[in-house]
Amino acid sequence: MGRLLSAFKRIPGLIYPAKCVSCGELLDEDGEVFCRTCYDSYENAKQEECSRCHKERCRCTCPSFSLGKAGLRRLIKLFRYQPAESDLPENRILYNLKQRHLQNVFDFFARELSESIDAALSQNEKASAILVPCPRSAGAKKKNGYDHTFALCRAISKKTGIPVSSALKRKHGGKMQKRLSGEERRRNIVNRFYIKNGEDLAGKTVILFDDVTTTGATILECRRVAKTAGVSRVIPCVIAFSGRDFVLRPQKSKKTGKKYGRRKVTSN
Ligand SMILES: [Zn+2]
Ligand SMILES: [Zn+2]
Repeated sequence: MGRLLSAFKRIPGLIYPAKCVSCGELLDEDGEVFCRTCYDSYENAKQEECSRCHKERCRCTCPSFSLGKAGLRRLIKLFRYQPAESDLPENRILYNLKQRHLQNVFDFFARELSESIDAALSQNEKASAILVPCPRSAGAKKKNGYDHTFALCRAISKKTGIPVSSALKRKHGGKMQKRLSGEERRRNIVNRFYIKNGEDLAGKTVILFDDVTTTGATILECRRVAKTAGVSRVIPCVIAFSGRDFVLRPQKSKKTGKKYGRRKVTSN
């Protein structure tokens, strides 16, 4: 019965009238997931200007500070979020994505991310692209009954035609990342992932998808493992990142007075 009810809940408006996923207000006929007020808040987050390239967040491909510091050049995303501001519509919809299996939320993010992915990739990259979700822990899958990153990749695939690969696997064990500090997260995630035998990712452009990135630890470890499978490039893609922009402010050397601080950036 639980499963049946869950299946019905995925069809908006069938049992319950469609409500805003953030504030619970009834949606008018134009409302997909948000009421007008909550949608405006989400749009503002999407259109916030990146302090590095000055494009809006959903079209900027600059890395977050933690990923840029580790040498990554690009990050596809929709917006920057504040983890502590749990009442913001942007945060509430992320919670809904993870905890409630709502089809309208999957459809909404699939369309939004498809547009950002399409704008970010070159024709060559599109031709060799494959979507690879960062796998959830077995505990998280069991608790929620599904793997939302995999489900969202499948929804994006339907819109973009980019295939999904489940080659990247996660070993059992480890602690939940969100309860750990930055250094603990890095230690907890090392050697947690592997590529399933026989899966050929050689020469592919991997769109490595995770819902959010904070310290970058999961993305960096998944990228490292994917690289061992001979992929030509890994481009991380998330719904949201937290932290500051990857802007390196040149500083003056006390000895020579010359400006320094431009860091060499490796390729993806
Ligand atoms: Zn609302
Ligand atoms: Zn930017």
